[in-house]
Amino acid sequence: MGRLFGTNGIRGIVGKDMTPELALGIGMAAGIHFGGTVAVGRDTRTSSKMLLDALVSGLTATGISVIDTGIVPTPCLQYYVKTSKLAGGVIITASHNPPEYNGIKCVDSLGMECSSEDEDHIEALYFGRKFKLNGWDSLGSIRQADAIPRYIRDIVSRVDGEAISHRKPKVVLDCGNGAACFTAPDLLVRLGCELVTLNAQPDGRFPGRLPEPVPANIQELMRIVKETKADVGIAHDGDADRVIFVDDKGEYIFGDKSLALMAGDILAGRGGIVVTPVSSSSCLEEVVKSRHGEVHYTRVGSPIVARAMYKLGATFGGEENGGLIFPEHQFCRDGAMAAAKMLEILAHHREPLSGLIAGLPQYQLYKTSVPHPPGMRDAIMEQVRKRTAGLRVIAVDGVKVIHDDGWVMIRPSGTESIFRVFAEARDKEKAERLAREGAAMVRDIIGSLEAQASQSSSK
Ligand code: MG
Repeated sequence: MGRLFGTNGIRGIVGKDMTPELALGIGMAAGIHFGGTVAVGRDTRTSSKMLLDALVSGLTATGISVIDTGIVPTPCLQYYVKTSKLAGGVIITASHNPPEYNGIKCVDSLGMECSSEDEDHIEALYFGRKFKLNGWDSLGSIRQADAIPRYIRDIVSRVDGEAISHRKPKVVLDCGNGAACFTAPDLLVRLGCELVTLNAQPDGRFPGRLPEPVPANIQELMRIVKETKADVGIAHDGDADRVIFVDDKGEYIFGDKSLALMAGDILAGRGGIVVTPVSSSSCLEEVVKSRHGEVHYTRVGSPIVARAMYKLGATFGGEENGGLIFPEHQFCRDGAMAAAKMLEILAHHREPLSGLIAGLPQYQLYKTSVPHPPGMRDAIMEQVRKRTAGLRVIAVDGVKVIHDDGWVMIRPSGTESIFRVFAEARDKEKAERLAREGAAMVRDIIGSLEAQASQSSSK
């Protein structure tokens, strides 16, 4: 039995992995799994409607009624499922991937991305192929619903709209031809922004830019922010659960900085727990500690962060890729909520965004990797654990060794035969040295494991 669900639901290439047969089968499996009314949605991809129709056929064939919310950001569907008290939700999206990809993501009744246990259950039903299908008189119904107004109203109610409209920030918004086209311009106008939009026409071929808001893809946004002397640039990924900001000078703000800036603002005067993957920058921990809060580290993956936040009653959480989670709104990454929060922070401070970012603790990250022979992953990891046993380590995902003035993290890739080694320190040389030492240790371990293997085979 293969594994369908990865870190972020099912993903693959349209016509190869992502077929109508797969969507139909997942629809039937999800129908049996959820056992009650399910909301569905999709992004702007050319293949999304084709896959959605197959999915809906599967759901209704098992007697499950479907509410179709049309093209919506993933967090908008999640909010709809939670507030409508439905059994679950399914969205067709490949988030930040290029146009040839698509994916299926399942959401539980709390609006959270399904747990791995839920995904295992859906997978088992899918591969078991023992679907009990309903007859003509007990098929599920299909109706349309507009999930967007309620979602936008909730976000507007959670920020200081008066301060934002008073400041009237000039914003350049890059929707990337994705699902954000249907929500983000409306939200920013309601908040009283002066708005310039880019790529705000939905188009699944992504003619404006690729959906991932990395620096190479949003050069135009960076240039226009600078040229129009805007206060901030905002770029969403394809399903708008993530957001990346550009400062008033046209500089790209990496997600670890926006995460730390927001944590500082949210925890001010109240402290609390912030949840983030173990790979996140020390910048966040330093800011959180200065606000009398504490950081809880998890394995990498936004569903894991969200679930830990739910269990711990966390105040805030997120990842360094611009996926930020505001628990009072909902337990999932939400690009629109994060954008609104950033505008509130700007409205509450005199300083421009570039000044706020410059005021954060500065750290340098250095990344490298070591390839290894296939099948050696666990043995290497065991040796890494042994060799770092006496040191200060966090071992929730690979091993992170904490030094007084930095850290180094060693973890196997989930998809390739390599170990990723990254290190962070106040200065670049120190970070590079820590990463090189970590990589040298992995290479040394591989060498001794290979020597042992050849010895035992020659005996
Ligand atoms: Mg996304």
